[in-house]
Amino acid sequence: MAKKRKANKKDNKAEKKGQKLRKSKKAVRSTGLDDKYAYGSFDFDEYGKEAFSRDGYEYRGHDTGDSRRDKKLDLKRDRMRREADTSRITPRNRTRLVVGFGFILFLMALLIFRMGYWQIVRADELRTMAASMQKVDTEIDPERGTIYDSKMNVLAEAVTEYELYGYTQYLYKDTDISLREKLATVRKLASITGLDEGTIRQKLSEEGDNLVLLADGLTRDQVEKAEEAFGSLVSVKTKAARYYPNDAFAAQVLGGVSADNVGRSGLEYEYNSVLAGVKGRTVRTTDRDGNTVSGSRTKYYEPKDGNSIVTTIDSVIQSFVESALETGMKKTGASQITCIVTNPKTGDILAMATTPEYDPNNSSEPYSKKEKEKFKKMTPEEQTEYLSRMWTIDAVSTIYEPGSTFKLITAAAALESASANSKSRYYCNGSIHVGNYNLRCLGVHGKQSLKEAVGNSCNPALAQVALDTGADDLYNCIDMFGFNDKTGIDLPGETNSIVKSPEGMGDVDLATTGYGQGIAVTPIQILCAVNSFGNDGVLMKPKLVKRIIDSEGKTVRTIEDTEVRRVVSSETAEKMRDIMEYYVADSGSGDQAYVPGYRVGGKTGTANLVEGGRYAKNATNTSFVAMAPMDDPQISMIVIVYRPTKVQYGNFTAGPIVKEIMEKSLQYLGVERQYTKSEAKEVKKSQVEVPDVTGIDSSDAIKKLERLELNYKISPEPEDGKTENFVVLDQNPKEGTKVDKGSVVYIYSE
Ligand SMILES: [Zn+2]
Repeated sequence: MAKKRKANKKDNKAEKKGQKLRKSKKAVRSTGLDDKYAYGSFDFDEYGKEAFSRDGYEYRGHDTGDSRRDKKLDLKRDRMRREADTSRITPRNRTRLVVGFGFILFLMALLIFRMGYWQIVRADELRTMAASMQKVDTEIDPERGTIYDSKMNVLAEAVTEYELYGYTQYLYKDTDISLREKLATVRKLASITGLDEGTIRQKLSEEGDNLVLLADGLTRDQVEKAEEAFGSLVSVKTKAARYYPNDAFAAQVLGGVSADNVGRSGLEYEYNSVLAGVKGRTVRTTDRDGNTVSGSRTKYYEPKDGNSIVTTIDSVIQSFVESALETGMKKTGASQITCIVTNPKTGDILAMATTPEYDPNNSSEPYSKKEKEKFKKMTPEEQTEYLSRMWTIDAVSTIYEPGSTFKLITAAAALESASANSKSRYYCNGSIHVGNYNLRCLGVHGKQSLKEAVGNSCNPALAQVALDTGADDLYNCIDMFGFNDKTGIDLPGETNSIVKSPEGMGDVDLATTGYGQGIAVTPIQILCAVNSFGNDGVLMKPKLVKRIIDSEGKTVRTIEDTEVRRVVSSETAEKMRDIMEYYVADSGSGDQAYVPGYRVGGKTGTANLVEGGRYAKNATNTSFVAMAPMDDPQISMIVIVYRPTKVQYGNFTAGPIVKEIMEKSLQYLGVERQYTKSEAKEVKKSQVEVPDVTGIDSSDAIKKLERLELNYKISPEPEDGKTENFVVLDQNPKEGTKVDKGSVVYIYSE
């Protein structure tokens, strides 16, 4: 609720700023004043200050990495060989070197002589020429397109900022300007710009350039007043800026632009050519003071505004996600949490977020107060590292060891290749012996079906499933699910996974792959693969943009849903949905994501991080991939909690986050709760009927409510926290309403 209020306030603020500036920009356009107001761009964006590795990914998890190391070694050997070749100096190439070097020296001497000639000998002549007349070629910025959410709420928009310059010689410095005139000028400029008189006086009397910047960040109104008062003695410049009205909302996905308004990360980068538009130009001839020479022609080429993009992001679900992640950070003590929410049937990304988050209007520091304090105490190196992590779109740019969530893929491969069916049984006595290794389980699970094995997240059973399926079939299925390809999502920086190939895959590799160890994938890959179970076995390509519209709002292009391929049969998909639902509802392993009335399914994973080439003892990343309702999936998600410190295991770190997002989103999407008989009983047990407490003394009313395990709130809230007794005039909810125990009943004193 508080978050929502905050968001509204932000909206209003943004709206005011946006509207004002948008309006004024339009006004400039229509009066044809563009050439005067248009100017190049200025450095206003903090973004540009930090190096940002877009393609850099961070690998967290168990690294096999042999092929990469080999490639590196090859490159190194190559380079050494080349160096060895060139360092051998024979008499023949010595002559060549001497001749070559001599020629370069000669060229440089010639160049220096020529520069000297223009700069010293003919300098005066050139200066006079330049002063009397110059061609001015001014670029006119087009308006960068808007980024909308799926309901046409603005997520990023173009704004124009105004700067006021003054010709100090004619405004102030000339000896024939009287003191009274000077005072009047200072006073007027101060009142227009809102700066104090001292500042204005100092700027006007500064030594050096005639043309100085008096004030920036002004409105169109302000600069117009200045022009009315001072005519051509002042000059106005505009710069196109980018404004993100919701602060830190969906920051990584939106990305940001550089100082000259070019997209440099996220959707701003991916869709730069769509959003940017085409620059216009005016070419005119002016004298030394910048006045257009009479009789000369001004050529004007109109800019073409950028198109806008309509994303698949649903701001309501995105805000559910962001608030759940914030709570999750506090409860788990994690270093980072990432979440993607999709529609499994279309591949639409409904929400995508990573905390800690940042405000793209000021991307050089984290957004939250707590993280900001942490950030300030870091060394410059740590800050750089922190920022690049913060800007990274973790959902597509990071690979991690999926651990047990991958058991779903193994189970599907087994069902699809018929190496397992509903009659298959697996036995777990706490470990399984494969090759020379003893692969251990977290428990002793005894005899289990495939469903129970996934439900218990039993490593030996899934190792057996993988061995029964065989390297070729398992690998083929992994390939079909898209783990060897990028998903092709419309975001920059999607990285490659690490999957072992079946050639030379030994039994140990096969068994451990079966329970998700020794491979590394991106969060979006796992989610898309699991989504196919919710889409009748068909893999969909994920997407973030569904429509491109022009500046008039007309649709230029519609981006259709894209089927990649059928991965498993309809029957296997159904069986997998059943296994996922069993995991959350019945196995006890995923119960933290259970929402009464909604058929939630899922699977957790916990993987130890690799530090210094070994599995770290207490550093894990934990995850939960989930979907609901399992009879007709509307929504799916993955939540990854990195380095939780307060609780461990996906069920307890990510489970509550999944539950919160799932429950709110399904309600918001209008999915009705359907209670099972036992759920209905539970719900009934936990509910009470609100009694009538009106017309009685407040202390009696409170006693009545407390007996029924109901909370109360007095309205209006007593100022000092203490209340005199009063007669209850009204109540909310009304008598007879069924509510959960612990609900709040408002009692009104007036
Ligand atoms: Zn087991």
